[in-house]
Amino acid sequence: MIAGSKTGELELWFVTGSQHLYGPEVIKEVKQHAETIVRGLNESKRIPVSVVHKAVLTTSDAVSRALGEASATDRCIGVIAWMHTFSPAQMWIPGLQELTKPLCHLHTQYNREIPWSTIDMDFMNLNQSAHGGREFEFSATQLGKHRKIIVGHWEEPGVQSDLGAWASVALAHYDAHHGRIARFGDNMRRVAVTEGNKVSARTTFGYAVEGFGVGDLVEYLNAVPDSDIDNTVEEYRNEFSVTPELLPGGERHEALRYAARQELGIRSFLEEGGFTGFTTTFEDLHGLDQLPGLAPQRLMQRGYGFAAEGDWKTAALLRAAKVMEAGRAAGTSFMEDYTYHYQGEESLVLGAHMLEICPSIAGETPRVEIHPLGIGGKSDPVRAVFDGRTGRGRNATLVDLGRRFRMVLNEVDAVPSSEPMPNLPVARILWKPLPSLKTSATAWMLAGGAHHTVYTDTVSREQLLDYARMTGIEAVVIDEQSSVETIEEKLRWNEAYYRFSGS
Ligand code: MN
Repeated sequence: MIAGSKTGELELWFVTGSQHLYGPEVIKEVKQHAETIVRGLNESKRIPVSVVHKAVLTTSDAVSRALGEASATDRCIGVIAWMHTFSPAQMWIPGLQELTKPLCHLHTQYNREIPWSTIDMDFMNLNQSAHGGREFEFSATQLGKHRKIIVGHWEEPGVQSDLGAWASVALAHYDAHHGRIARFGDNMRRVAVTEGNKVSARTTFGYAVEGFGVGDLVEYLNAVPDSDIDNTVEEYRNEFSVTPELLPGGERHEALRYAARQELGIRSFLEEGGFTGFTTTFEDLHGLDQLPGLAPQRLMQRGYGFAAEGDWKTAALLRAAKVMEAGRAAGTSFMEDYTYHYQGEESLVLGAHMLEICPSIAGETPRVEIHPLGIGGKSDPVRAVFDGRTGRGRNATLVDLGRRFRMVLNEVDAVPSSEPMPNLPVARILWKPLPSLKTSATAWMLAGGAHHTVYTDTVSREQLLDYARMTGIEAVVIDEQSSVETIEEKLRWNEAYYRFSGS
């Protein structure tokens, strides 16, 4: 379980649509079918929270009561609706209008296959999702209600995985609505894209952004007991390859102990305040000996959101992505497009930051090292250095256009470096942006995408898009199929759409 998350106590509610027309015997059977499906989903272990069957709904009042209760119950992170039989959808309208939780329509049916030799009208009436689902969706469409639609038999692993992926986005949505981002210091001076409207963010995503002086942190650092530092240093030795000069007895061991003090001090500040993410800035380090490097790296590994230079939007997006990884191997980090390697169609981007890249994307055992840092004016900071894993990944950025938020996504292929980089003292990852650097960078910049991103090779593009849909923000995808013209056109259409829709 990731830091500060209450996953174990949370639930998805499953409601089943039917009607009285079929009589009590049929309703009883519908209920048994629904309970079997819910048991199957829970046993699949593909859904990150427990699924609870609430009721077979056959009247407008019952729908309103069930969906009203879902909205009012904190532990309910979302609703899965299934139309077992034909459920006349006028009865769903008041309930859907009031539902505030994420909604997924599981368009499945109890029986996988048609029983060719025995099929009769009773069977048809009991397996009418094809009919009922369409009726339900008409009303959802007419209401403009956002929902996820998952089609397929409930026992198929792919259907269960899709439901699990959506559920983890609902979990991130829940987490954001209970989330708090602590900012130590303000924005990096004069930077535009890392700024934004915190009140709009609260309205759109649910999280609070709260500012603190870095001095507020210093007392937490000072309160860390030596024995805790000893234990954390031991963890570094077990997880990473620590350079000899930083080891106990080494001449720079105190710097490693100070990095451990920063990690533990920041962590106790976050735990005490119920924070789910944080930002730092090298322009405000009063009372700190080093720019935090290893500390944010380790705290990201534990699931905290983080971004540098006061970039709370990226910190919050990283936290959301960390929650979306729910229960799977992690591979998500704060990232920055840093340097290009131009070689025509195969041009590459070297992604890194001054220090703060999450070890969850490492392709090798990270080395803990100490090197000078030209900016910040403090002691040499300790950091974990590694090359990132290769394979398909994606960068996501969130910008505040003033009128609305926009997410920009770019699919990338992380590739090995053809040459070692012995003098580069930071964690880094090399990727080929799709479809090419030329198109990707042009489209990204036309969309106003930031240099700060969330890089992930575990959270899917569909999950990030679901998060955009769930929060009602714009999303623009740059992938193998994209051209500058299609992106330009999409941006123009979106501009009109969002003006028109009043968002
Ligand atoms: Mn930066």
